Formats: sequence, C-alpha cells, structure tokens
Amino acid sequence: MEEDSFRALPPVDRVLGDERLRAAPPGLARDITREALDAARAVVRAGGHPPTYDAIVTDVCARINAALRAPLRPLVNATGVILHTNLGRSPLADEAVEAMAAVSRTYSNLEFDVASGKRGSRHSILEPLLCRLTGAEAAMAVNNNASAVLLALSALASGREVVLSRGELVEIGGGFRIPDVMRLSRARLVEVGTTNRTRIADFEAAVGERTAALMRVHASNFRVVGFTESVSIEDLGALAEDRGIVLIDDIGSGCLLDTTRYGLAPEPTPQRSLAAGAGVVLFSGDKLLGGPQAGLIVGRRPLIDRMKRHPLARALRLDKASIAGLAATLRLYAEGAAEERIPVWRMIAAPLDGIAQRAQAIAAAIGPGACVIDGRSMIGGGSLPEESLPTMLVALAPPRGVGATGLASRLRARDVVARVEDGRVLLDPRTIDPRDDAPVVQACVLARSSERS
Ligand SMILES: *Cc1c(COP(=O)(O)O)cnc(C)c1O
Repeated sequence: MEEDSFRALPPVDRVLGDERLRAAPPGLARDITREALDAARAVVRAGGHPPTYDAIVTDVCARINAALRAPLRPLVNATGVILHTNLGRSPLADEAVEAMAAVSRTYSNLEFDVASGKRGSRHSILEPLLCRLTGAEAAMAVNNNASAVLLALSALASGREVVLSRGELVEIGGGFRIPDVMRLSRARLVEVGTTNRTRIADFEAAVGERTAALMRVHASNFRVVGFTESVSIEDLGALAEDRGIVLIDDIGSGCLLDTTRYGLAPEPTPQRSLAAGAGVVLFSGDKLLGGPQAGLIVGRRPLIDRMKRHPLARALRLDKASIAGLAATLRLYAEGAAEERIPVWRMIAAPLDGIAQRAQAIAAAIGPGACVIDGRSMIGGGSLPEESLPTMLVALAPPRGVGATGLASRLRARDVVARVEDGRVLLDPRTIDPRDDAPVVQACVLARSSERS
C-alpha cells in the first residue's frame, strides 16, 4: 500500500519539465523539486495520501517564489507604533534615501579633501552639522548608540571608576545591559543611590581619586513612578566640573525638537545636556532623530579626539551610505524642515482630522466589515515609554470562520502588519505612508475575501 503511494509520486524530471517551471532558474528548480518530493514522501510515510501531481507542481512553484523573494523587503507598518524596532525603526526622509543612493552608486569624497587633493577624514562630514545643531565643540558618529556607549567608556574611563545611579543600571533591549558594557570597556562601575531614589549627595560621596566619570543613562524604555527622586543633569554637570571629571550622558533617542509641543512628555535633548556641562552626549541616529542606524557623539573637543583615536573607533565606524543619510537628515533640521520632511516627525505632528479623513476613506474603500474607531498611536522604539497620541483606527471584522489573528496573518502575507485587539484587526493610518493607502485597501479586501491564507 505504502509502496504504491510512493510510486504514485512523479519523478523529478517530470516535474522539472512542467510548463509552469519554465521561467525558474534550473539549479534552484531541481533543488526545490527534490525538497518538495521529500516532503511528499514524508506525508506518505506518516500515513497520509500522496499529493496529486498538480498539488506538487503548485507547491514547487510556491517554494521557488518564496526562495526568489528578497529576504529583507519593505512592509507597511499599520501598527501605529511610530518607532517599531522589529520593523526597522525610523523610515527615512526622501532626501536621506536619495543621498544614500547617490554616494553608493559611485565614488565620493568620503575620506578625501577636495580642495587640497589630499586624504581627508570621514568624521569631518558630519561634525560641522552636528556641532551647529547641538552647540557642541566636536562630534563624531559610530555604528549605533550601543557602540557609542562602549567607545565612550573604553576611551574615557578604562581602568578607572564610573559613578552611576542604581536606578539607571538598565537593559536597553537585545541583552544590552549597562553593567555588562561597563565590564567590557574595563571601566569600574560604582553604583550609588537606590533603584527609586538617588541624590546628588550620593554622587558627591562616591567621587574619589580613581573616578574618571559620572554617567547618566536615560530611562528610555521604562518609567519608575511613585516615591522617586533623581539628580538633574545640571547638578551632575556642576559636580563633574567642580571635581574635574567627565560627565557621560547617554540620552538614548537623540531628540532635537521639543516633544512637549505635540502633547508628549519632555525628552532629554543634546543641547540641554551640553549646556548643563556634559562632556560627551550619546544618542541613536534611528530613533527620534529619524535617520539611519548610527550612534552620534557630541561634546568637548579633547574628549571626542580621544574617542576618534581609540582603536575601537575604527572597528565601530560608520559606512558612507549611513553618513550620507545622516547628513541629509541633519540638514533638514538645519533648514527647519524636520517636522515636514522627516517621517517620524511628520507622523508625530500629523493632525487628527487628517488621520480621520484617511481612516474614513480607507474604511469606505474596503466596504462592509470595516469601520473607524478612536484609538492611540505609540511612539515606541525605546523612546517616550507610555506616551501615546490620539488617533483614528480602521477596524476590520474578520470574515466568518477566520479569527482576527487569522486575518492579521493573511494581511502579513500581503506585507501589511496590523494590530489585533478585541477580536478585530486594527490599522492606524498615522504610521502608514499615505502613498500606501491604496495598496493597504487592496490587501484588506483580498485578505477578507480569500478562501485560503
Ligand atoms: C536605544 C538606546 C541605546 C541603544 O541604542 P542603539 O542605537 O539601538 O544601539 C542605548 N542607550 C539608551 C538609553 C537607549 O535608549
């Protein structure tokens, strides 16, 4: 019986000769056909019916299409989480994307001084812009903010002590924990205060001969509420200056604009930290800054110079495309066009009536089963925890026999990522690029109608 079932499966060459596989790369088609026939044999071995010839060819075609798809590809973020780390954090301004493409396609002045014709430094590209925007004396950029923290501690405090509040011994995510990075840099961590309360007197008492730096790490992905006390950056800056030590400030998000204008809690800015006396301020390029992945470092010239000379600086250096994208993003801030041109700020600043209109139009185009409801968009991405903005959501009722999670999975198969809540699928126009409204409508219609996912 089982023997007959195995014999019912077509030979590899018959499948390979099928009209439907004509356009497939031959090597890939052969490998995948073997894979599909192995899977069919496994079904038979488990006591199942052998798949028909047609089912096998359909399976092979689906496997080939999946193998030929780009492994990293664009998705529509309909979740309403503006900085979604799993979905690539900040989308870039068109200006940044074009600048990245332009320097990638050909040669550039990455490390070349055009005026003298001699060797230049890649640091000199971003430094003037970063200094102008933040008021710093000097600046540099590395691979991401985690590298900036590692480099700052290694270059400025290796073999010496760094004083940090117990309330700031945080894990950023992905296993990046401040005490571990401290160990890796060979700086000695001196913890002061308690989880919920730390005072300036705690820092004063801990500073001694071996102290290289005071450090502050912004609590960017959690909040401590209730009986709490923390030290202001101004008090830390004054103490560092008084004792002749460095203040290292990891502000996380790198917010250059005033978040309170949008009804959000205040975020630390590099401008404020530098004015308060921080020696170096560290932040991400792809959180609220809205640029490509990077770690930006601004501060005093002698400290930045030490960091540029450290061997890790070379290991953590930034690629030309990222430098070009960052420069283009920073120029939008310098031109006062950030809110209008940088997607994360455009999303934060999007007026509610505009979102409501788009939600109505999307729901109307989908037809029965879609309606518009009130909701909240999240900032996300380790910025402004708990902070949200009012929004209008498109709520999709799942078709009969397919749960809300089933419908969400059908939408994902069409490259649209949505939220599931209370048995419905919710889509937030705030994080959908308006250019994607029509494709989102189409994906919703097809996902609600298709028989199979
Ligand atoms: C996000 C964050 C980091 C890590 O930044 P990456 O750019 O993701 O490496 C470090 N410190 C703080 C406070 C953060 O919020």
